Amino acid sequence: MVDRVRAYRWFHHNPVQVYAGAGAFRQFCQLVPEGRSLFVTSGGFTTRGLTEKILAQLGADDTIVHDRVRPNPDLDDLDDATAEYRDAKIASILALGGGSVLDTAKILSVTLANRTRSSLAEIFRQGRNRKWPEKIPVIALPTTAGTGAEVTSFATVWDRIGKQKFSLDNSQLFPRYALLDPCLTLTLSYRETLYGALDTMSHALESLWNRKRTPVSQALAVQSLRHVNDALRDVLEEPGSVNKRAQMQYASMLAGLAINQTRTAIAHSMSYPLTTYFDVPHGLACGFSLSSILRLVNALGVLPESGPFLRTIEELLDSLGLEDEMSGYASYEEVSGVIDRMYTPARAGNFIVDIDRNGIESILKESFRCRSSCRGTA
Ligand SMILES: [Zn+2]
Repeated sequence: MVDRVRAYRWFHHNPVQVYAGAGAFRQFCQLVPEGRSLFVTSGGFTTRGLTEKILAQLGADDTIVHDRVRPNPDLDDLDDATAEYRDAKIASILALGGGSVLDTAKILSVTLANRTRSSLAEIFRQGRNRKWPEKIPVIALPTTAGTGAEVTSFATVWDRIGKQKFSLDNSQLFPRYALLDPCLTLTLSYRETLYGALDTMSHALESLWNRKRTPVSQALAVQSLRHVNDALRDVLEEPGSVNKRAQMQYASMLAGLAINQTRTAIAHSMSYPLTTYFDVPHGLACGFSLSSILRLVNALGVLPESGPFLRTIEELLDSLGLEDEMSGYASYEEVSGVIDRMYTPARAGNFIVDIDRNGIESILKESFRCRSSCRGTA
């Protein structure tokens, strides 16, 4: 048998067709294939009348509405939804919402298309096979800017019973289309905007300080951070600016493309126990430690981008009052009890700096700005 030789240093692939700009939302009418559609969204959009508008376009007879998506999709809820729509002969899935809605749609696109396969509960609780040869095309309409889920091949599933978070990473999970319409993000609150931006910055920075970085992921990440640096303060003050909202959407998508190549790293690894145990929203949970990690990376000089640009990003992060945001969820003393759960090799191992429990503890202390007062408490 001939040994397979890896004859390349890196590759880049992303099959999602993206349509962007004010009004891009309406493009779904042209893109949706023949047959019955499953419209996945959250209850808020139905209350605000958007579901009705979608049904008017797609035809109520040809559309099933699933508007019960809650934040952090739970695997039992997803198995229930799969059972509910299993016999509905769904030909396409239209997803309108934030990361949880897009992840739900992406997961249903494979669980509904492969009906004889194991349930998510069997896959994650019993370690069953998770091959999904078939998929239903997904049209993603993000209404937040942050997750980049519209262009990634992963989805996050939470197990509320087992208090665990699982990641699905499978090329079948790529949406077929992503429609980036900044007008869909105009009503985001200050916090939704800020936490989304933090998730974008986390993705961009995590793909930069990543052992798997490529020239393409690097370019995408830097461009993403440039957009955030240019638009975030303005959009927080002037939430109705379509141009600034568009920049935040591009930033989110570019960072999504970047992590799709590299996967995430230390900040995401540290974030998951914060969400599982203290309900810290994802963007804040991973954005909270970025400034401290960036200071470490800048001090070590391990990134070619180190220097004025990343110091500007560090200043931007320091100006956002994240300690106050975090104090609403947990204190350093509380968080220090779950430090041991913050190192997950699949993510933290991507970080270009070798790090152990002590390293994570100092990043956390620095993030809580309690370098002197917390000493000896953990
Ligand atoms: Zn994230």
